[in-house]
Amino acid sequence: MKLADLKKLVTEIGQGAVELVFPAEPVCPACGREPGLYRGLGRQCLKRIVLIVPPICNLCGRMLRLNKASDGKCQECCGTAYYFSKARAVAMYEGALREYLAEVKYRYRPDLGMALGELMVEWLKAYPKYGKFDLIIPVPIHPQKLAIRGYNQAELLSIPLQRHLGIPVKSDIIIRRKLTETQNALDRESRFSNVRQAFQVVRPGALTGKCVLLVDDIMTTGATASEVSRMLLRAGALDVKLLTLAAGVIDKQWLHQ
Ligand SMILES: [Zn+2]
Ligand SMILES: [Zn+2]
Repeated sequence: MKLADLKKLVTEIGQGAVELVFPAEPVCPACGREPGLYRGLGRQCLKRIVLIVPPICNLCGRMLRLNKASDGKCQECCGTAYYFSKARAVAMYEGALREYLAEVKYRYRPDLGMALGELMVEWLKAYPKYGKFDLIIPVPIHPQKLAIRGYNQAELLSIPLQRHLGIPVKSDIIIRRKLTETQNALDRESRFSNVRQAFQVVRPGALTGKCVLLVDDIMTTGATASEVSRMLLRAGALDVKLLTLAAGVIDKQWLHQ
């Protein structure tokens, strides 16, 4: 090591010590650089997220191209029955948000997960009439995945929502008992049959007459969330509405060009 490098290293270590005593202003959890957080993220990183804006499908919340909806529903929803009564997503599952969610899922980033949950809070502030809820249920992941990942990302996203809505997050009511093959490789029909019987309600009494806000990171076909909703309703829930951070593209057709 050259003397100059050594000096630089010592300076950096010194700087680290100063930051321990006087913590620096929090930096953006997405890029780790920009200071000055706005809704949990730096402004530059926030700008890279493509928010979902009207017109949207009244049922699944996906963006519509103008004049292509029937009954306010997208073509995808016209041929599909979901068990949740409505679904909404904050942003498109593309670009920056895709990267952020990969970080949260595969690189142990609970800080980033909770920062992204703040975006869902902002969405609820913008659409307060979405519903009145008694409890938040994050879509459960299989215990094996939980052990690898260290947390359920849907549960992380739910933490800021819990704070905002003042209602509990319940992760012990429904469990995922089937480790399904990854949905990515499956077509639409297979996705619905793949998740059948994947979940089990273990505390049915807690659901009687309750309006549930079901939370997940991504909705693609809605198959998983619909199956969870089916189980919750069967166990006595009054209504289930879904809120996800991102909406995935099923195939190119859903843009109804
Ligand atoms: Zn940033
Ligand atoms: Zn739709």
